Amino acid sequence: MPLNRAGAAAWLAAWAQKAEANVDYLTDLDRQIGDADHGANLKRGLAAVTALDPDGFAGPADYLKKTGLTLVSTVGGASGLLYGTFFLRVAAAWPSQEGDAAGLGAAFKAGLDDIQKRGKAVLGDKTMVDALVPAFAAYDAATAAGQGIGPALAQAAAACAAGRDATVPLIARKGRASYLGERSAGHLDPGAASATYLVEAAASTLP
Ligand code: ADP
Ligand code: MG
Repeated sequence: MPLNRAGAAAWLAAWAQKAEANVDYLTDLDRQIGDADHGANLKRGLAAVTALDPDGFAGPADYLKKTGLTLVSTVGGASGLLYGTFFLRVAAAWPSQEGDAAGLGAAFKAGLDDIQKRGKAVLGDKTMVDALVPAFAAYDAATAAGQGIGPALAQAAAACAAGRDATVPLIARKGRASYLGERSAGHLDPGAASATYLVEAAASTLP
């Protein structure tokens, strides 16, 4: 899909579809090291996002900005604020030129930077950041090597899933799971799982 409103809407619809198909899985992950609301939170918020009409916005930036605001107001929890923050920043940095692989990477990176500014999580804290940092690093490495959006996003999705899986042995240092201390080890982080759906959804729709 092109990097226009329709492409952005396809990305969000694919993310919503993955989150909805795995709502019980996400909730189970959050039951083990959190408060068992991540699946329901995300399902509710993404239903509100997919109810938006992309044609009602002047362009992808306006549409993605409204997506961010909608996520903040409907998802709730730490993840709603962080995913909302991501989309607000991605909206502002969204490339205006079709096929601008490096521009898209810069938008992702700006969004991730704002997640980290707001949540103060760094790599290894057992959060969505552990999936997104390697994902967007892999994306940038691919585009720096001259690859286009499709292969760069495919590599990003693979790195994201690897980062997600690497959260299992970690001890949580941010968010609700950090209250468990060492008992948080041995469980996959729910936000890292939903962030991987986000990047996989991009890989299946944006190229
Ligand atoms: P809550 O913990 O408020 O119930 P959710 O269950 O919706 O929120 O989301 C939990 C996920 O949010 C965690 O698995 C983690 O990935 C992510 N998260 C929590 N706090 C932070 C943070 N400070 N920085 C980055 N991600 C975070
Ligand atoms: Mg929760």
